[in-house]
Amino acid sequence: MATKVVERKPLSIWERSYLPQVVGGLKITFKNMFKPTVTLEYPEERPEIPPGYRGVPTLVRDPNGREKCVSCQLCEFVCPPKAIRITPGEIPEESESRHVEKGPKEFEINMLRCIYCGFCQEVCPEEAIWLQDIYSLSGYSREEMVNNKQKLYELGGTLPDPYYKWDRKKQAELEGNPHH
Ligand code: SF4
Ligand code: SF4
Repeated sequence: MATKVVERKPLSIWERSYLPQVVGGLKITFKNMFKPTVTLEYPEERPEIPPGYRGVPTLVRDPNGREKCVSCQLCEFVCPPKAIRITPGEIPEESESRHVEKGPKEFEINMLRCIYCGFCQEVCPEEAIWLQDIYSLSGYSREEMVNNKQKLYELGGTLPDPYYKWDRKKQAELEGNPHH
């Protein structure tokens, strides 16, 4: 195989001093020094989160304080990295919410697996799982990064409910129409 020797142009004294690069670098520094800043001094300064932001998935309650999840497990099925683990449970007879079909006995989301895709929120028929504007969840161990049911409700809080489906069902039952 033929070898072609590439001749290198010798550097001038000016070039060997690296002054053009230093001056070029300083020019960029001074140009940007007087522009408005685009970075934040995190964590003292926090970014403004746009509406629809997909942060940490959480479980939410309805305005009656009732858990909205009916443990259908659709979110568990659809979650691409299998981050959700649900143990379905029954609503106790003596509970105020016994007219609701089911509830989760346990509900875990492994945040080391979650990819924040939002499929769980999209698929949920009860609007019970919401990706909130939380973006800085951290922990010291793997176990801490698995959010259990209690933590999911603490993070989720209460969201407005435009339908009150279960209230309407209870009302229908009281009025003698259990198939409402
Ligand atoms: S956001 Fe996506 S990855 Fe995370 S729990 Fe929901 S479905 Fe799973
Ligand atoms: S969060 Fe929604 S989709 Fe998931 S089990 Fe509960 S009701 Fe079903």
